[in-house]
Amino acid sequence: MKIKRHKKFQKNVKYFMKHFDWKAPFHILADGTVAKAALDNKVNLRDQLPKYFDNAVKLYTTPCCLVEAESLGPELYGAVQVLKTFLVYKCPHSEESISAAHCVKSMVGQKLAPQKSKSSNSEVPESPDVPAPSRSNDPIRFIPATQDHYLRKQLRQLPGTPLLYLNGPAPHFERPSLVTQEVAKDKSVKKLEVITYQKEILDRMKDEAFGDSPLPERKGTKKRKRAGPNPLSVKKSKKKKTVLTLIPGASTSQNIGNNNSPGGDRGVKKKRRRVRIPKHVKQELATFKRQQQQQQATPKAVE
Ligand SMILES: [Zn+2]
Repeated sequence: MKIKRHKKFQKNVKYFMKHFDWKAPFHILADGTVAKAALDNKVNLRDQLPKYFDNAVKLYTTPCCLVEAESLGPELYGAVQVLKTFLVYKCPHSEESISAAHCVKSMVGQKLAPQKSKSSNSEVPESPDVPAPSRSNDPIRFIPATQDHYLRKQLRQLPGTPLLYLNGPAPHFERPSLVTQEVAKDKSVKKLEVITYQKEILDRMKDEAFGDSPLPERKGTKKRKRAGPNPLSVKKSKKKKTVLTLIPGASTSQNIGNNNSPGGDRGVKKKRRRVRIPKHVKQELATFKRQQQQQQATPKAVE
């Protein structure tokens, strides 16, 4: 049974450590009610709590808690003596003390500056089993320890605030309240959003830097681009273009083959040779020449 209780206690502690960054050493702020319960159940909180937390624990109270417990008369004399063994954290109500419940409520839910307590027991190590780490300059966050039901109800409304009380002789670390659970859920969702947002940015940067293709291929293409067009190849292509423009005008290889004239402007000559005289015109021209020759020949014969 005790192991099960310890595991439950540990589970709740780890929840607050994970979601709300609670760290050891744990600072417990106890009021007169929890001191009275400890006395009644014969529980030594200084001995027991480090075992439950499995870590270093420091026990505190405030002047307001002491004043209130003392004002309640001889019934709480023993509880006052227990409280006096704890470290006294100077609350900001030194001029006029307020109720212990209000004082405790004002001290939790925030990070407080560490201070040197004037308590006579301040030099005594709080957890003899586990040595306390030397973090004297770290801010203090208090875990309230109270048997006051009304105060606990109010403290449950403060998100991320753990609660400690005695269930009979056994210290009980209350499971996270609904408000705390909702805040923890929101926090984890926001963390996920940040992660996805960062991932999107990284992907975008990768795309911009390397594109969709793998890195080595991209490098290869870049090198080709930097090399640029080969000036020699460009010149060659221009020459080809000029030849291509001339050849169609010269009606391809037939004319090239017919052109036997050495040198000169082949293009111009080819165009002239393309003019062909039809056969019937040639025949008529031939007969016309013959007639002319005959006419020239007959007068000579008459003479
Ligand atoms: Zn106070």
